[in-house]
Amino acid sequence: MVYLDNNATTPADPEVVDAMLPWLREKFGNPSAACAPGREARKAVETAREQAAALIGASPEEIIFTSCGTESDNTILQSALRLDPDRQEIVTTPVEHSAILKPAEALARRGAVIRHLSVSADGLADPSELERTLSDDTALVTVMWANNETGVIQDIPRLAEIAASKGCLMHTDAVQAAGKVPINVSAAPIHALSLSGHKLYCPKGIGALYIRKNTRFHPLLLGGSQEGGRRAGTEPVALVVAFGKACELARLRLEAEAERLRALRDRFEAAAVAMGAAVNGGGAPRLPGTSNISFEGADSEAVLILLDKAGVCCSAGSACTSGSLHPSHVIVGMGLGTARARSALRFSFGRFNTEADVDAALAALKAALERVRETAAARPGPGAFAGGPPLRAE
Ligand code: PLP
Repeated sequence: MVYLDNNATTPADPEVVDAMLPWLREKFGNPSAACAPGREARKAVETAREQAAALIGASPEEIIFTSCGTESDNTILQSALRLDPDRQEIVTTPVEHSAILKPAEALARRGAVIRHLSVSADGLADPSELERTLSDDTALVTVMWANNETGVIQDIPRLAEIAASKGCLMHTDAVQAAGKVPINVSAAPIHALSLSGHKLYCPKGIGALYIRKNTRFHPLLLGGSQEGGRRAGTEPVALVVAFGKACELARLRLEAEAERLRALRDRFEAAAVAMGAAVNGGGAPRLPGTSNISFEGADSEAVLILLDKAGVCCSAGSACTSGSLHPSHVIVGMGLGTARARSALRFSFGRFNTEADVDAALAALKAALERVRETAAARPGPGAFAGGPPLRAE
C-alpha cells in the first residue's frame, strides 16, 4: 500500500512505540500516587510535558494533556465563553476543522455569537478584516495554524497581535502544523493552542492544550486535581510518554523533514499539474507535505475508489467529513465553487514516504483519471471533463 493520507492520521513511529511499551507492561504507577511507582510515573509525565512544551516554545507548566485535538478545541471554546458574561462572541473562519465549527455551532444555540471571517481564494484570512470584526463583545479568536485539507498556513502571530490589541483571547488549532513548521508561542500573544498525538506519529488517544501562563481558564472535565486542576482524570501514562517522545522526534527532525517532504510534494504536484490539476491553496504558504488538487469534473469519490483499488490511500476533503457526500467546506469556503470542491483530492506525505511512493501514486492517478474520462465519454450527454455531472466509479 502507498499511504498518502498522513493528515488523516500517521503510523506510529517505532521509536515512539518503544518509549511507551514499558508503561504498558511492567510500569503501571498512578502519577498522582505518592509511592515509588507513582513517583516514577509522575517523572515520566513531567518529562513528556517538557518535550511537548519544547516543540512549540512553551513552558512545561503551560501544557495540559487531553485525549485528542478535538477535546483541546472544545475545552478552549467553552472556557472562553465562561470568563466574562459581556464577552459572548467567538471569531473564527469558515475553513476550520469540525472540532471547532461544531462546538461553535452548539455554543451559538446557547446564545453565543459566532462570526466567520472570510478567506481568500487561497484560503487566507485577512488581518484587516479581523481588526474590523473584533469588538468589546469578542471573547475568543480561533483560527487554525494550518488547514488539514489544503495545508494553507495562516499568519497566526499577526492575527494574535490584533486579537491581543482588542483584549481578546487568541487560540489556534495547530493539530496539523505542529512538527511540520516551526511554532513559537512565546513570540506572539497566543493564549491557547491545540495539539494531537496521532498527527505526530504517536498512537491515537492523546492530545494537548497549551494555555499561556496567567490566562484565565475553566476546565472542561471536573474531578481530581490532575494537570494542575485544569483537566481532571488520571493521565494515560503510556500515551503521555509516547506523545512526549513524538514531540521530541518531530522537533529534532523538523527542518530536514520539511525539506524532504517539500521535495516529495513538489515532485508529485508538478506531475499532477501536467495532467491538468488545479492546486487548491497553491498561492499561499503551505505545509510542506500537503497537496490538495482538483481535476475539475472528475468526481473525487470516483477517483478515490479507483486509487484505493490500486493500493493508493489518499482522501477527498478531511477524513472526518469524507463519505458525507458534502463537497469540502474548505474549498467552498475559499470561494472556489462546488465543482472544484467535488473534485478535490488530498495527498498528504509523511515521514515514511519515499520518491517511489510518489511515482506509484502518480501512475495510479493517471490510470484512474483515464478510466473516469473513458466512463464519462461513454455516457450520453456532455462528459465529466466537459462539465457534465460528477461521475462515480463503477
Ligand atoms: N483539528 C485539525 C486541524 C485536525 O486536522 C484534526 C484531525 O483531523 C483535529 C482538529 C481533531 O484532532 P483529533 O483527531 O485528535 O481529535
